[in-house]
Amino acid sequence: MRKFSPEGFRHQFPALRESKCYLDSAATSLCPQTVIDATHQFYQTGGSVHRSHYLQAKQLTERYEACRQQVAELINAPQAEQIIWTRGSTESINLVAQSWLQPLLHPGDEIIVSELEHHANLLPWLMLAEKTGAKVVRWPITAHGELAVDDLAPLLTPRTRLLAVTQMSNVTGYRPPLAAIIHQAHKAGVAVVIDGAQGIVHQPTDVQQLDADFYLFSAHKLYGPTGIGILYARSDRLAQMRPVQGGGKMITHVDFNGYRLQQAPWCFEPGTPNTAGVIGLSSALDFHRAIDWQAAEAWTCQLAEHAVKQLAQLPGIKLFHAPGSPIISFVFEQLHSHDLFSLINEYNVALRVGQHCAQPLMQALGVSGTLRASFAAYNAYDDVEQLVRAVTSAYQLLTEEE
Ligand code: PMP
Repeated sequence: MRKFSPEGFRHQFPALRESKCYLDSAATSLCPQTVIDATHQFYQTGGSVHRSHYLQAKQLTERYEACRQQVAELINAPQAEQIIWTRGSTESINLVAQSWLQPLLHPGDEIIVSELEHHANLLPWLMLAEKTGAKVVRWPITAHGELAVDDLAPLLTPRTRLLAVTQMSNVTGYRPPLAAIIHQAHKAGVAVVIDGAQGIVHQPTDVQQLDADFYLFSAHKLYGPTGIGILYARSDRLAQMRPVQGGGKMITHVDFNGYRLQQAPWCFEPGTPNTAGVIGLSSALDFHRAIDWQAAEAWTCQLAEHAVKQLAQLPGIKLFHAPGSPIISFVFEQLHSHDLFSLINEYNVALRVGQHCAQPLMQALGVSGTLRASFAAYNAYDDVEQLVRAVTSAYQLLTEEE
């Protein structure tokens, strides 16, 4: 494992040359050169997986399948066959909804969804409820923007089938107490789907220790390419899943009378897959494994805390930030976030403004939207200075008297 050096780490990201201030890693992280090279090399060589038997195709298939094992090691899944490729977190959650829950659901059944969730972990459940007559039950946050396990207990009823909760809020960086939540849900016989889209890159994840029923993430928030994600399913849940899409390479036999499915995960992956995405993810996982992640994370959070300290001094600012997290959302009393954003934009700081695909959370926090700065290990103190300078100037411009 290489020692973490902020300078050396940052240097590996071509997008950061010309001292760009990128503070939007919660939306998507940048790719290191090695990931870009691996994807490029795949397209230069080409080839098809699981279809052809010439040497190059066989080697490519082996590499492609070996990435499942890399993912299994990352999250400590018992078997590589419990890793299903998807297009990303959104598709993974939709797959759980349609492939696992839908066949088990009856009118009047309940799905608990926390108020912290990204729309990707709310809409699939609302749409499923609409289709089946089931009900989505809101698990409200506390006044501190957290999830209290004590508030969960009364929501769990004999009709509850599933609890959907995030590993880390994409708005505040808050991490719910997953172990206690899962324990409580399992005591009531309720399965838990964990949205790891934000959490995966910032903390070690052990799906066996958590006893997660389902866990998912997208490669593009883990220094990998877009368009590829994973769904992990516990073996008993995987056995209950039914494919919802049909196509090539998912069956062992088909005729006009019927078909026999391939075993999991391949029966959930019909059609030519995103081979370039898997090769890129594999490279991103090599990259991830080669650095001292604890040191990288400590650096990331140190930067975020420094930014919080400086921003907090601005009059009228309201911060939404869980201490020790890489994400900071903020608003200013009397000022519209979009007005601030258009001025900040002139300073070339890549921030995000809006509702962050979390409208129910915005309502619960009592804001119409926020500005959001999200940090990654490739950021530097200069980025914090640039952010604070830009926000301060924008604030002054909007509040100075004529
Ligand atoms: N959940 C959370 C917490 C997220 O932050 C995101 C992405 N912003 C998603 C789910 C959806 O991920 P994707 O767009 O890669 O499917």
